[in-house]
Amino acid sequence: MNTVSIELTRNQKLVFDKLTRVNTPMTAYHLLESLRDEGLRAPPQIYRALEKLITLGIVHRLDSLNAFVACRHPSCEPHRVSAFAICDQCQRVSEISDPELVKHLRALALEAGLTPRRSNIELQGLCEVCQNETL
Ligand SMILES: [Zn+2]
Ligand SMILES: [Zn+2]
Repeated sequence: MNTVSIELTRNQKLVFDKLTRVNTPMTAYHLLESLRDEGLRAPPQIYRALEKLITLGIVHRLDSLNAFVACRHPSCEPHRVSAFAICDQCQRVSEISDPELVKHLRALALEAGLTPRRSNIELQGLCEVCQNETL
């Protein structure tokens, strides 16, 4: 989690706290459902909050699941590279952090003439638990 103190609006804080507590990816729809009692009733409220949290680098979007997770590292934001191992079966997600990966990606991007803004890598497969189940 990010240790930098950031001023969040009430809605942003609600969404961020929720994602931090559940520790699993949540879709915007699930967030809306679970925060209904807190007064968040319209999808744009959720999307606006998520957009800001993503810009701040404290929430990541997982394209393959169309879901959102709270960042587990204080180090993601400066380099804007995030990587996840995602289990296809149980959707368990672990965030991966590796300075070598960051360096390598940056070098590859520059080689391709691209100044990288942000990148997210999603590795998909079976987690340890699911692998054992299928044996
Ligand atoms: Zn992160
Ligand atoms: Zn699994």
